[in-house]
Amino acid sequence: MSGKINIAIDGHSSCGKGTLAKNIAKELGYIFIDSGAMYRAVTLYMLNTGLDLEEVAQDPAVLGNIKIHFEFNSEKSFYETHLNGTNVEDEIRSMRVSRFVSQVSTLRVVRDFLVIQQQEIGKNKGVVMDGRDIGTVVFPDAELKIFMTASPEIRAKRRYEELIKKGVHVNYQEVLHNIRERDHIDSTRKESPLAKAPDAITLDNSSMTKTEQARLSLSWAKGVIKSRENQ
Ligand code: C5P
Repeated sequence: MSGKINIAIDGHSSCGKGTLAKNIAKELGYIFIDSGAMYRAVTLYMLNTGLDLEEVAQDPAVLGNIKIHFEFNSEKSFYETHLNGTNVEDEIRSMRVSRFVSQVSTLRVVRDFLVIQQQEIGKNKGVVMDGRDIGTVVFPDAELKIFMTASPEIRAKRRYEELIKKGVHVNYQEVLHNIRERDHIDSTRKESPLAKAPDAITLDNSSMTKTEQARLSLSWAKGVIKSRENQ
């Protein structure tokens, strides 16, 4: 046994799941996978090729044309998303994609297509994956599950500041509206709705710094790893 574990981080949109997951993965020497980026890449493909939801639902074979992989950017110390050989890391974060991604994510065929790939990545353990259904569907047997949340206003403020810093033109109300809308669609959809796994630990980070969140989560992870070593 490798002694490695899988860590599932789920929660609402723009909670800082990715940042936390990245920090934990870096510290433990694990692979970090942003499952939302995979849904965003499928969405970008659909927007670029003009495919609508119904066409994909009726002909899931079209998904076979979508090849997603992650490449490590050592300068940024970050895995960047590639779609059919092109680096789409920035494009998938645009509002154009954000507006449509939650609708794409309601499609059963899209979820099935991506969950298989996510499970394959996690089969040898040592993966920190963030998303909405990681602890419930993708890795129901993950050794550590964290469910993150924070108020919509705080999340919108963080997201807004991040986008402005990147030079993207947005207004705060639009970002807040998008976050509320995605929360609603993600939590009420029929297929794998956003839900806290019964064995997940809740982390409300409304008034926590990134360092505090990382420290706390790492202490949980190291506790789990140690208890398994002692078994
Ligand atoms: O995590 P992020 O906000 O980038 O994810 C974009 C969207 O992808 C979410 O709003 C959600 O609709 C969808 N998603 C999902 N299941 C996941 C990850 C993301 O449905 N595991």
